[in-house]
Amino acid sequence: MNMIFRPNQPLALPSDQDATGRTFDEAEIALVAEVLRSGTLTVTKGRFGKSFEAEFAYTLGANHAHFCSSGSAAVHCAIAAINPNPGDEIITTSITDMGALTPILYQGAIPVFADVDPHTGNVTAETIAQRLSPRTKAIIVTHLFGNPCEMTEIHALAQAHHLPIIEDCAQAFLATHANKPVGLWGDLGCFSLQQGKHITTGEGGIVISNNAALARHVYLFINKAWGYGDPNPDHYFIAPNYRGSELQAAVALGQLPKLQGVVQARQKRAAQLTELLTGIDGIETPKIDPRNSPVWWKYPLMVNPNHIEGGAVGLAKMLKEWGIASAPRYIQKPAFRCQIFREQKTFGDSRWPFTLARPEAVDYSAERFSGTFDYLERVLVLPWNERYTEEHVEYIAHAVRECVNTLTKKS
Ligand SMILES: *Cc1c(COP(=O)(O)O)cnc(C)c1O
Repeated sequence: MNMIFRPNQPLALPSDQDATGRTFDEAEIALVAEVLRSGTLTVTKGRFGKSFEAEFAYTLGANHAHFCSSGSAAVHCAIAAINPNPGDEIITTSITDMGALTPILYQGAIPVFADVDPHTGNVTAETIAQRLSPRTKAIIVTHLFGNPCEMTEIHALAQAHHLPIIEDCAQAFLATHANKPVGLWGDLGCFSLQQGKHITTGEGGIVISNNAALARHVYLFINKAWGYGDPNPDHYFIAPNYRGSELQAAVALGQLPKLQGVVQARQKRAAQLTELLTGIDGIETPKIDPRNSPVWWKYPLMVNPNHIEGGAVGLAKMLKEWGIASAPRYIQKPAFRCQIFREQKTFGDSRWPFTLARPEAVDYSAERFSGTFDYLERVLVLPWNERYTEEHVEYIAHAVRECVNTLTKKS
């Protein structure tokens, strides 16, 4: 039955960039209309932002949640809450969104890149431990593509060194490790509501925490550090305006009840694809820790370049003819190879805060990042979506199989 598929008649796959792959309906429209009719678009006066924060905290099982303008802003708020001194080191990952890295520099701290597991692209307790120093102030982990990091081990390591953990859950709504949702393993959990995430407001973000003092700092950081409601309010410290609006919060309130269904649909289809692609020479389906329940922001396939002509790039090129827009190498290069880090482009020509860094903290030699280079060479990121049907997944599997057949090296 797979024979009905032809590359010259590509099947149109739902896309997270438009209505074909998003879940908006009358619920969001009614909520946005309600905000507009109220005439109150700022969250400082309206009830939608507050309501979304309460609902999101409840959904995750967190004590506190604060809505903000983006996922990058969410990570910035979390770092600000940790309150590093200039030159303090924050261990992070070499494979993540730039929005999770620049806030470290804005807060005067030094991002120290840990290597990743070559099978998952995630940092591990071991790769983090290799980067610990007396100047380490915090650890940031990214749960890449919605597959959780080994939080049991990372949490134990952080406890032993009295270090806070910030979890970047932008790709990992409702993902769990050892039955506990990501975002609650750390001291602060950050989420993005950008267009392509599991739920979206176009742009937006939210931070959760069970620590009241940290959550208070996040709230203040979003609000120019103005102490709304305090007996003698003041602007307490340096902080931007990172607020979202009531309009975005209304969309978020419409999206939130759909989140569990979105996750379940993605999981069901990912299981189908894994089954269809298991055992094909030259490619590997994602390696999942049995303690994890991933939520499949994307479907990362591993391609063996010794077996497949052109490796991940060659396979992606051929999949494009089938109408499948995959991303070989994900972010193309490790974060530390971007100009901002190579040339230390920060404030004017000062290079600050890199001027405060220990040489080892900014040593980006390739041999310290073998897992990173290995992972990026082999990963092929397939787009994933809650609107994929059984037929869509059969089509993707069929296309991958055909392309792999064509590209398999003859020995
Ligand atoms: C999307 C994303 C971000 C940034 O979120 P924005 O809302 O685009 O600012 C940060 N980290 C990760 C892992 C992401 O996927």
